[in-house]
Amino acid sequence: MSLDTVSGRSLSILGATGSIGASTLDLVRRNRDAFRIVALTGHSNVAALAALAREFGAEFAAIGDEALLPDLRAALSGSGIATGAGAGALIEAAQRPADLVVAAIVGCAGLAPTMAAIEQGRTVALANKEALVSAGAVMTRAVTQHGTTLLPIDSEHNAIFQCLAGNDPVHVRWITLTASGGPFRDWNAARMGAATPAEAVRHPNWSMGAKISVDSATMMNKGLEFIEAWHLFPVGVERLRILVHPQSIVHSMVEYRDGSTLAQLGPSDMRVPIASALAWPARMTTPCEPLDLAEIGTLTFRHPDEVRFPATRLAREAVIAGGAAAAVLNAANEIAVAAFLSGHLPFTSIVQCCQDVLACGLPGSPQCLDDVIAVDREARVRAHETLMPSR
Ligand code: NAD
Ligand code: MG
Repeated sequence: MSLDTVSGRSLSILGATGSIGASTLDLVRRNRDAFRIVALTGHSNVAALAALAREFGAEFAAIGDEALLPDLRAALSGSGIATGAGAGALIEAAQRPADLVVAAIVGCAGLAPTMAAIEQGRTVALANKEALVSAGAVMTRAVTQHGTTLLPIDSEHNAIFQCLAGNDPVHVRWITLTASGGPFRDWNAARMGAATPAEAVRHPNWSMGAKISVDSATMMNKGLEFIEAWHLFPVGVERLRILVHPQSIVHSMVEYRDGSTLAQLGPSDMRVPIASALAWPARMTTPCEPLDLAEIGTLTFRHPDEVRFPATRLAREAVIAGGAAAAVLNAANEIAVAAFLSGHLPFTSIVQCCQDVLACGLPGSPQCLDDVIAVDREARVRAHETLMPSR
C-alpha cells in the first residue's frame, strides 16, 4: 500500500489494548513507514500491551493498574522499552512528545491523560467522548488556550468535521447526527426490560468495546454524542438533531442555509474516521471495502423514539441545564452500565438511574479539571446510592 502524503508521523495511543486502539494499530501495521509509535497504554491486560509495545517498537508502555508494574516490567525485560504504571504513567504517556495522541481510553478514566495531551498543545485525535462530555468547557477552553488541534474520531463527529471543512458555521441550518438505533431499536419496552448483557453488546453494525455497545443499546451513546457535538461544533443546541439511520452508512450531515446538505458516507468501520484523523489534513489508504451503494440499495431515516429511548432527551436537557449536568449524567451512566454488565441491574434501569441521579440536584459548575473530577466522583457515589435498593 502506498502512502506518499504521510510519513514519519509520531503517534501515542491511550487505550491501545481496546477496540479503537486495535483499529488504529491495524492502520499503523499496514503503513509502518508512515508512523512511529511513541507511547502505548492499557488498563490491565499486560500481555496484550507488552506484545503491542514490542511489535511496534514503542518508546514507553504504561499500564493503568499500578499493581501490575512488576508484570509489565517482566513482560518487557530486555526490550529497552520504558515502563510505567498508574495514573501518573498514563499522563506521562500523554505528555511524551508526539505529533498525534489518540485518546481512546473508555470513560472518565481517560479525562486526566486526555487533558494532559491537550495541554501539550499538539494534535489530539479524540475517541474518548466521556472525557469531553464530563469536562465540557474546561476541555474546550484548554484546547483554545494551548492551541491544540482536536480531531474527532467518533464517526459522527468526524463526518461533521469533514462536512464543515471550509465553511463558516454561521451558515449552518442543521447538524444531523445519525444513529443506528442499536440492537434494540425495534424492541418494545417489555422485551427491553429483560434484555441481557450478551444481547446488548451484540451491535448489528459496529464491533466495539462493551461499554459503548451498551450505550448504543440504550441510545445514551447518541446522547453523549449530542453533548460532544455541542462542544465541538458551536452552532447552538437548537441546530443539533438526531435521526435514526439503521444502515449506518451516512455517518452524519450538515445542512446549510442555502439548502445544501453535505453528508459523509462510508462503511461501518472505525478505520475510516481513524484514518481521516491519522492522515489529516491529507488522506491515507485503508483496507476498508469500497462503498457499494447499488448493493446496499436503500438508506432509511426516522425520528428517534424518546419514549422507549429517553437517553437523548436527558442529554439535551443536560446541555440546556449546563454546569455540572453533563458530567453527572456521564458518571451515573458509567456506574449503571457497569452494574448492568455485571448482572446487577435490569437494562431499562440504566437510563432511569441517570435520571434519578440528575434529579438529586446538581453540584456547582466545574471551573477546572479538579472540579470536574470532584463532580464525577460525587455523582458516582450518588449513582451507587440510587442503585442500592435494586442490588
Ligand atoms: P474498549 O473497552 O475496547 O477499550 C478501552 C481502552 O481503555 C482499553 O485499552 C482499556 O485497557 C483502557 N481502559 C479501560 N479502563 C481504563 C482505566 N480505568 N484506566 C486506564 N485505561 C483504561 O473501548 P473502545 O470501544 O475502544 O472505546 C474507547 C473510547 O472510544 C470510548 O470512549 C468510546 O466511547 C469511544 N468510541 C469507540 C468506538 C468503537 O467503535 N469502539 C467508536 C466511537 C467512539
Ligand atoms: Mg459514534
